[in-house]
Amino acid sequence: MVRESVVDVKNYISPSGIGGVDFAANPYVGCPHKCIYCYAEFMKRFTNHAEPWGDFVDAKRCRTPINLGKIAGKHVMLSSVTDPYNPYEKKYGITRRILEQLVHADCSVGILTKSFLVVRDIDLFKKMGRVRVGVSMNSTDDDFRSAAEPYASGVPKRIEALKRLREAGVRTYLFMSPIFPGLSDVTRVIESVWDFADDFSFENLKLRGAYKPRVLDFINTRYPEYSGLYRAIYKEGDNDYWREMSAMIGSYFETREYRPYRVYFGW
Ligand code: SF4
Repeated sequence: MVRESVVDVKNYISPSGIGGVDFAANPYVGCPHKCIYCYAEFMKRFTNHAEPWGDFVDAKRCRTPINLGKIAGKHVMLSSVTDPYNPYEKKYGITRRILEQLVHADCSVGILTKSFLVVRDIDLFKKMGRVRVGVSMNSTDDDFRSAAEPYASGVPKRIEALKRLREAGVRTYLFMSPIFPGLSDVTRVIESVWDFADDFSFENLKLRGAYKPRVLDFINTRYPEYSGLYRAIYKEGDNDYWREMSAMIGSYFETREYRPYRVYFGW
């Protein structure tokens, strides 16, 4: 059960500390996709919510127009600490309201989502000069997806979203994140969207936050055959797994026709 409310804010856009991103627009506080590894969970301490992260969503209402001059020539990302197309976007339409303003801005826009709902806004993307729309997907196994990302779109719908975006002439990318050791089949994911993604990015699973015990518990309970691998990586600090995977991704792209890709691995 998700507790929903509407909150008034002064601005939809705020400066971002993410590399390459000048401003972030987060239309919602909270994210009901409830991914077990959610990196944005730390945001809960800036809210007045007692509910666990994932069990509340605040739709932001802003009566002041976005200052388009301030973001001219800059890069704006939707979103950094929520999914702009989480299921409540269907009801509140805050993301669409923001995009309707960004259509008139001289900025580049990056969208990242795990939801098929993104195709609703193809008409706006087509009007934007510089927009890249990414779908985040870390497995083609929908059983794993439904366990790890229970309220996000299923795998076939995410692939379909990329396909529809690409067919509409929108620039697309796959963000394979976070890669779960043993469970995320990198080449299978790449191949599932090869025809629909203009470029690719890869990020490994990092367990630095409060979600670390939850993720390790998830592995021990559902995928005990990988418990030893996770212990080696996340408790004993054996990072050869990621070095080898990074090299494997490089080798894979060398065998295919050129596509830009980036590997964001850290530990
Ligand atoms: S979609 Fe992103 S912000 Fe939402 S729960 Fe999943 S990881 Fe967190």
